[in-house]
Amino acid sequence: MKLVVDAALCQGYGLCHDEAPDLLELDEFGYAGTISEGIVVPERMSAAEAAVGICPARALRLVD
Ligand code: SF4
Repeated sequence: MKLVVDAALCQGYGLCHDEAPDLLELDEFGYAGTISEGIVVPERMSAAEAAVGICPARALRLVD
C-alpha cells in the first residue's frame, strides 16, 4: 500500500505527522509530504491508517 497526500486538500495541521513520523514529513509551513514515495510496509499499516483517520482535511488516503 501507498500513503498519498492530496496537496490541494492539506491544510498544514500536522496531526498526521504525530501518528506516523516515519511515513510523513512536514515542510516549513507544516504541509505534509510522504517519505520513501509513501510506501507503507505491513508493520506500519496501523500507523498509516491512524494518520489517514486523524487528518481533519481528509487529505490522506491509502492506495494499492
Ligand atoms: S493532518 Fe492532514 S491537513 Fe494536516 S498536515 Fe497532515 S495531511 Fe495535511
